[in-house]
Amino acid sequence: MDADVELYLRVWGSARDAAASATAEWATAAREPLAEAIARGAAADRSAEGFDAAFEEVAGLLPDGASPENIGLGEEHRLLRTTLRDFAERRLGPRAGEIHRGDLDVPDDVIRGVAELGLFGLSVPEQYGGTLGERPDHVAMLIGTEELARASLAAGGSLMTRPEILVRALLTAATEEQKQRWLPGIATGDLLVAVAVTEPDAGSDVAALRCRASRHESGGWSITGTKLWCTFAAKAHLLMILCRTGTVDSGHRGLSLFVAEKSSFAGHDFEVRQGHGGTLRGRAIPTLGYRGLHTFELALEDYRLPPEALIGEEGGGFYLQMEGFSTGRLQTAARAVGVMQAAVRDAVAYTRSRIVFGRPVAEHGLADCMPSASSPTGRPGGSTRAPPTLRCRPASPSSTPAGWRST
Ligand SMILES: Cc1cc2nc3c(=O)[nH]c(=O)nc-3n(C[C@H](O)[C@H](O)[C@H](O)COP(=O)(O)OP(=O)(O)OC[C@H]3O[C@@H](n4cnc5c(N)ncnc54)[C@H](O)[C@@H]3O)c2cc1C
Repeated sequence: MDADVELYLRVWGSARDAAASATAEWATAAREPLAEAIARGAAADRSAEGFDAAFEEVAGLLPDGASPENIGLGEEHRLLRTTLRDFAERRLGPRAGEIHRGDLDVPDDVIRGVAELGLFGLSVPEQYGGTLGERPDHVAMLIGTEELARASLAAGGSLMTRPEILVRALLTAATEEQKQRWLPGIATGDLLVAVAVTEPDAGSDVAALRCRASRHESGGWSITGTKLWCTFAAKAHLLMILCRTGTVDSGHRGLSLFVAEKSSFAGHDFEVRQGHGGTLRGRAIPTLGYRGLHTFELALEDYRLPPEALIGEEGGGFYLQMEGFSTGRLQTAARAVGVMQAAVRDAVAYTRSRIVFGRPVAEHGLADCMPSASSPTGRPGGSTRAPPTLRCRPASPSSTPAGWRST
């Protein structure tokens, strides 16, 4: 076997095993027959029999109109999903294409709508105007992110991520004064947030970043350097900036975290010029997708911040940033789930509506496993209420790509 193909198969196999074990864990927690059947499918032998049997079992268990994404959720979270899906489908979905094609800004009324639904306040404690109780409601956060991303990644899928990252760091190390200053505004969506960590030569390796913050004789800080991929930097009122305050080779212990207040700008370019001549310039990077919030390259030159912009201890920034990223990563996964749900939804709808050779695409045995136009109860698939159902069909040898089962 070709070495590249073997490597690919190994990677695919281990990703599949990881997914199967995560699904099994989820099913154990959910304790619902459908979840257990899905987990059996995820772990099924790659032979046609094991795979098909698992799909048949799942299809047979799908109750009419039920949505598998609600498995394991309590009434409150189900209601939250319904509310957010309705909001996202009405306010984001219809504008997604226009925002993407025109590389437009996320409309202000979408940001306001997300704020009014309380999504910015999920991670902010009640005493600062949010709804965070004793324990964080990660499930609510994930539902919010999934639903916004499902309607449009460009128009809102990522709106909740940056506030969550900053809030977590603030709750860990900010002074009471800093919390009072920023948290209430973040909770209401009046203060929008961007996170500036990545640099041209430092992405995954955060400890390698070079953007420098030096103490200024005024007692504050002067920042000079370049940041890359800073999403939402124009619109944001608060920039969370991780800078090097230690020596060049001080590694992760030489980093400090700052919050810079700025004006909010629309569009793809902005410039903040301070009285003494210090500047912060932003230029949107033309991305393939993920538009709307725009992702910026930032150039800071002697950009001054007051002493109280430092969060926590000097040199403690790396840990605070990682603390913030811990739940930010969860949201990244939820965004991917939302986008995948939308892709499946649209693909299923297409195969049911597109007629080829006198029948919907879905009714042709083009592949051996595909979405079927009929539900297990035999209701015609044309009904708008019928959930898409996965049914396996025997494929003719000529329609099965060579090696289809071998991976
Ligand atoms: C649309 C978009 C929005 C973003 N928004 C923000 C933002 O708001 N704020 C911000 O600070 N950053 C943001 N980022 C930057 C993002 O966090 C970085 O792209 C990410 O950290 C990876 O860094 P890099 O692109 O420099 O890749 P690199 O770190 O150079 O990695 C290159 C490749 O090597 C792999 N790799 C890295 N380390 C290892 C390893 N140890 N072992 C094996 N493989 C490895 C990586 O998985 C990757 O595939 C954004 C990026 C994008 C594309």
